[in-house]
Amino acid sequence: MTNVYREQQQYPNLLVFIYSLGPILITVCHVGALLVLVTGLSWQALCWGFILYWIRMLSITGIYHRLIIHKSYQAPVMVKWLGSLIACSAGQIGPSWWKGHHLQGHHNRSDTPEDSHSPNSPYRSMKGFFWSQFGWHVFGNLLPDSLPADTESDRVMKIIDRLHAVPLILLGAISYGIGGLEFLGAFFLSTTILFHGVALVNSLAHIVGEQPFVSNDNSRNNWFVAFATLGEGWHNLHHAAQWSARHGYTIRDGKIVCLPDPTYWFIKLLEKFNLASNIKLPTEKYLLAIANKKFS
Ligand SMILES: [Zn+2]
Ligand SMILES: [Zn+2]
Repeated sequence: MTNVYREQQQYPNLLVFIYSLGPILITVCHVGALLVLVTGLSWQALCWGFILYWIRMLSITGIYHRLIIHKSYQAPVMVKWLGSLIACSAGQIGPSWWKGHHLQGHHNRSDTPEDSHSPNSPYRSMKGFFWSQFGWHVFGNLLPDSLPADTESDRVMKIIDRLHAVPLILLGAISYGIGGLEFLGAFFLSTTILFHGVALVNSLAHIVGEQPFVSNDNSRNNWFVAFATLGEGWHNLHHAAQWSARHGYTIRDGKIVCLPDPTYWFIKLLEKFNLASNIKLPTEKYLLAIANKKFS
């Protein structure tokens, strides 16, 4: 879909090709996941798929989203590099692309006709759900308006961004090396479910759930999405206070209540090893000030 409202940077053909590998490879993973119908899944292969899901989910939520994109805490550059390499192996493109797309394409125009993947615009109901879940990635405007200066000025981060397909392909090869076609199938299945797990934040967490905070969009706190994404489903708070390292907050009987947020626990664990600092958290007063009236 061509977006007439956007002023978009001109990208060289090579970069367009590099970013286009994202939807191509994730489509290959969807097809490859069918392998498990032929090979079956032993408990070892199932464990492999589970481990790959949760580790890569954490790299997307804790490193890409809360560290590199929203800067809700600070970390040594090695954490950013290693985390980005693992996040690339999830098949969701590199850090520059992710940051550009997420901030410009989603937060700056959330649930408006210019949002890259809103389930509420331009389509609604089931069509809107499928658009935000997968359709936008294949048929939408894949390129961010521009690439963020901070990730682009870090030479290593830039290389990781451009070579985003390598960790994914490498992990597929490692899976095959460990357990043949059965483990390769588990890798494809894990990567496919992981893609849809992250996409639920775009779709379901903008349709179903509570809105305890004022965010001026349709973002919701959705427990199922929070479970699947290690806390990212507490999405209403995230839109209301994007800089907060903890997303898990709600309001009950006029009081702030903390919700389970494993990504935040991971950040606190990093802090114990001096790998995270300046963790940004809202005060109770701030949270009550942005409370939705019917919850306060
Ligand atoms: Zn965000
Ligand atoms: Zn959102």
